[in-house]
Amino acid sequence: MKRNLGQNFLIDKNVAIREVGYANITEDDVVLEVGPGKGILTRLLADNAKEVIAIEIDEKIVWNLMDKLPKNVTLIHNDALKLDFDSLPKFNKIVSNLPFQISSPITFKFLEYNFSLAVLIYQKEFADRLIASFGNKDYSRLSVGVYYRAKCEILETIPKTCFRPQPKVDSCAIKLIKRKTPPFVVRNEHFFFDLTKNLFNYRRKKIKNILKELYKLQKKDLPYLDNRVEELAPEQIGELSNILYKIISYN
Ligand code: SAM
Repeated sequence: MKRNLGQNFLIDKNVAIREVGYANITEDDVVLEVGPGKGILTRLLADNAKEVIAIEIDEKIVWNLMDKLPKNVTLIHNDALKLDFDSLPKFNKIVSNLPFQISSPITFKFLEYNFSLAVLIYQKEFADRLIASFGNKDYSRLSVGVYYRAKCEILETIPKTCFRPQPKVDSCAIKLIKRKTPPFVVRNEHFFFDLTKNLFNYRRKKIKNILKELYKLQKKDLPYLDNRVEELAPEQIGELSNILYKIISYN
């Protein structure tokens, strides 16, 4: 077992069965799985889907799984963070019990891809940050980024006893439905994501102080200057980003 690869294997098959059910897998679906591990989820997905693409980083696991998986599984030995998803057969769903070390970067990577639905298991703390709304202590750059790209719902809490070796904390199954269009319009997405990151880096500071420090702006006629980012809905961060982008690009 390699701890740095988040290898906490699911031992409760009923959880895997429910996961496949939540994802409503049919024979038209091509499903991506990151980290098949011992294949508990992979085999169930393969029973229902047209094709499963399973990416596993650990060579030993790949050797163990090779020749033991159904024919409609394509097993790829690679780092899911480094692999170009566009080089894979086009997939429409993602179902994975994710290694907790890569939760954040792999989620942002998924959100760049054009899938329809994902069912993902995360550690509970991370899942709470994913779905948090403004005003909540868990509200973060991640919550805003996910909200912009997907509708997100907690499906169930999965006790830590369902995994071996047992992790320190419980997990959650999450459903993400990719939005066809964002819930609000931003002039420049790159600028919006950058601003969101900068504001959350100083989440306890007032917006006016952050803008003064980072953008050298001392304007008094901008909205939300006396708020902190944790008080702003994603739409309001979008509004601020649009105004700032206009000011900065015209200067
Ligand atoms: N799906 C299996 C299960 O439910 O029992 C295993 C889940 S385990 C939490 C995470 C799996 O992801 C491990 O098999 C681990 O080796 C693999 N993994 C870790 N980092 C990875 C990465 N960057 N790319 C692909 N697989 C990775």
